[in-house]
Amino acid sequence: MNLKKDNPYGGRSQKENPLPDYHLHTVLCNHAEGEVSDYRKAAGALGIPEICFVDHAPNPDGYDPRHRMKLSDFCDYQELVDAEMDQREPHVLLGLEADYYNGCETFLEKWLVSHALDFVLGSVHYIEDWGFDNPDDMQVWNSVDITDTWHAYFQLVEKLVETGLFDAVGHLDIPKKFGHRPAEEELIKMVEPVLDKMAMAGMGMELNTSGLRKPVGEIYPSPLIVSLACERDIPICFGSDAHSPAEVGKDFPAALQMAHNAGYKNYFRIKKRKKYLVPLPETF
Ligand SMILES: [Zn+2]
Ligand SMILES: [Zn+2]
Repeated sequence: MNLKKDNPYGGRSQKENPLPDYHLHTVLCNHAEGEVSDYRKAAGALGIPEICFVDHAPNPDGYDPRHRMKLSDFCDYQELVDAEMDQREPHVLLGLEADYYNGCETFLEKWLVSHALDFVLGSVHYIEDWGFDNPDDMQVWNSVDITDTWHAYFQLVEKLVETGLFDAVGHLDIPKKFGHRPAEEELIKMVEPVLDKMAMAGMGMELNTSGLRKPVGEIYPSPLIVSLACERDIPICFGSDAHSPAEVGKDFPAALQMAHNAGYKNYFRIKKRKKYLVPLPETF
């Protein structure tokens, strides 16, 4: 895949390309606040050139209805985001954060391609019926084997990658959210095959700063995983996972530093689900 072909961002200097924020939610997910226009204003105040809303995709099969829009809300979502699309910066993109779970393909494979989306971020938030990153279900961690749980998680991420339905993997090591981690050598054994498949598939990886606002206090994924991804030329993007306008672009200088430390020289921007590599700025 030639990510640089027909690159509309190629002519700009690094200075003119501060990092876009590709992970914003809206009130339609039932756990975020603020108007779409307020997210855009917040991005503009930080000089962020582009934002992408990736609210939680609807799943009409009844999967996790509390944390996502209903299928009948999707038109409203599209209208809310479309209303902010014009020539001025920050540019606004329409995306979705779609969950991978066993059986999700039945709906998603037809539905995703039938809408004019710019970006589909793939995430795993559940192992069977356990929302392992949900603070309400955190006590379950006390009764499971941590390594086995991470293994089950990465098996789901591997399946996510294999579907070919998603453009990038969101918050790749989110099981660490409350501080539960496997030994490093176990983690490497689990994550490397997933990264290999992502590289083969041309999938991107998100550097998600929301982990810094959670008990673990670390960006998703960890510096080790970002380095392993860089070795494989997996393209990266940046997301705050903002659930309020005040969180837009949060901690992006730390994420940029992490990308530089891992050896990254570029990140990707996306339009109509086509990725373009852009040089990383020196500073945010
Ligand atoms: Zn998520
Ligand atoms: Zn999110």
